[in-house]
Formats: sequence, C-alpha cells, structure tokens
Amino acid sequence: MYNKIHLFGVLIFSFSMLNCQTNTKSEEPKITYNVSKTDKEWREELSPEEYEILRNKGTERPHTGIYNMHFEDGVYVCKACGQPLFKSNNKFMSNCGWPSYESAIPGAITYKKDTSLGMIRTEILCSNCGGHQGHVFDDGPTSTGKRYCVNSASINFINNKNE
Ligand SMILES: [Zn+2]
Repeated sequence: MYNKIHLFGVLIFSFSMLNCQTNTKSEEPKITYNVSKTDKEWREELSPEEYEILRNKGTERPHTGIYNMHFEDGVYVCKACGQPLFKSNNKFMSNCGWPSYESAIPGAITYKKDTSLGMIRTEILCSNCGGHQGHVFDDGPTSTGKRYCVNSASINFINNKNE
C-alpha cells in the first residue's frame, strides 16, 4: 500500500515537472492583428495620451475620461482602428472612475494575462489592432459578473442616430 502511494506521488511529481518544462519552453504566442502598424505610424496617428494608453498600456486618471459618465444610445469603437467593441446597453454606472461594461461585442476583444504591478489581471485588447483598452474583472454588479474597465481615451462613441 505504501509503495502504491509512493509511486502515485512520484507520478504526480513527474507530471508537474513536465508541466513546468512545457511552460518554460513555450514562449508567449505571438498574436497577429489585422491592423498592424509601426510604432512611428501609431505615434503620428494618435495623440500622446491615446498612444500612451493604446500602444503603451497606460491608464488614464480615474474620473477624468469623457465616457466615464456618458450614457447615450450607441456603440463604443476602438479609437485606433474603429472596430466596434462595446454597446451602450451593456454599459453600467460604476464608481471605479472608468467606463464600465458588463460584456463586450463577441469577438471584439482579445484577452491576455497581465502580471504587471504585482497583480494578476486580465488585460483586454482590441482584437483587430491589439490596442490596449483596459482590464476585465470578475466583480461586475450585473448578471454577467464581469466589469470591463476601459479607458475613455482608447474608445470613440458613435451615436445610433448617426447611423
Ligand atoms: Zn482596434
């Protein structure tokens, strides 16, 4: 009996070692985006603040963005490439200081593990150009339980009436 348990332990140990090896060997998969521009091109197209957020993964100061308390009918698109990301009926009033959504338009967002600043978070990027949008958290107050926390500077609002 002891031998069996011992063998089982060795097996588990070996598997975890294997996992470690594959983890260290495999590098982060390189994602390619439909819209791909050079750093110089992005700098020319975007304002310094937009560039800092969209390309450099910066964060605007809370309660300063133009869409934080913005509630109109329409769609929020990526400021860098124009891809629709969030619908106004999925936006909710959040006290966090940034535009917050309970869900994104299907396929519009790429999710990436972010371990910067000593935290484990899920970064959200535009799936069309890789522009940094913010992070998604599991503390949303609505039925989805999600809070897509987005920078105003990385999105544009398009009113439904203008379509
Ligand atoms: Zn984009």
